[in-house]
Amino acid sequence: MPRFVSRFAFGLLLLLASCQSQPGKGRSSTYGDRPGPQGFNTVIVDAGHGGKDSGAKARGLVEKQLALDVAKRVRSELWPSYKVVLMRESDRFVELDNRVSIANRYPNAVLVSIHFNYGNRRRAGPETYYWRSDSYALAKRVQRNLSAVAPYESGNAGLVRRRLRLTRNPTIPCILVECGYLTHSGEAKLAASSAYREKLAEAIARAIRDQSRDGDAGMGPIPRPIYAPPSRAGDARG
Ligand SMILES: [Zn+2]
Repeated sequence: MPRFVSRFAFGLLLLLASCQSQPGKGRSSTYGDRPGPQGFNTVIVDAGHGGKDSGAKARGLVEKQLALDVAKRVRSELWPSYKVVLMRESDRFVELDNRVSIANRYPNAVLVSIHFNYGNRRRAGPETYYWRSDSYALAKRVQRNLSAVAPYESGNAGLVRRRLRLTRNPTIPCILVECGYLTHSGEAKLAASSAYREKLAEAIARAIRDQSRDGDAGMGPIPRPIYAPPSRAGDARG
């Protein structure tokens, strides 16, 4: 092979290599079609809703307030071992698309969005949503840890793959956590107690630490990527 051809081929190889997403190296990825993150140092904790958007309201509880409380507790659990970015620190409305743009400023990070659920009064238990392959193991760990803490589980969806704005659109691994149903009398009573919210935060933080330490190890086969377009405002719940 002539010298210039091999040099060209080598250059091409280098170019291709630099375009590949490198798991654990904190590169961003549009589709999340890669292994889950390992060794990340930043966690973006998103308290769902805020300001004019209260989220679920049931049994005297307001989702936006509980979500912010749990988010702050997760920060206390993780900091200073991790850099923690809170999407909001007060009762403030932040557009979902702005939350996505903020998350994308931190390539070596994961995003965890915290919510409480609303539904049929017999439903109880945590649910964790993911879409991207690189977010599966983190979602599974969070769901497993929350299940271990939650005494009521009935009719809940568990671990769910769903394309939402905060599970599809960020270019970093991202999951959405529903900590429990405010419409269930027993679970609402727990959610109202700071001791229980602390347990929820510990469970979420432990999952994040395990993911950073072990990557996808021990989490079973990772689901194949789905190359779907970004989720828009008109789509189902997001
Ligand atoms: Zn919510």
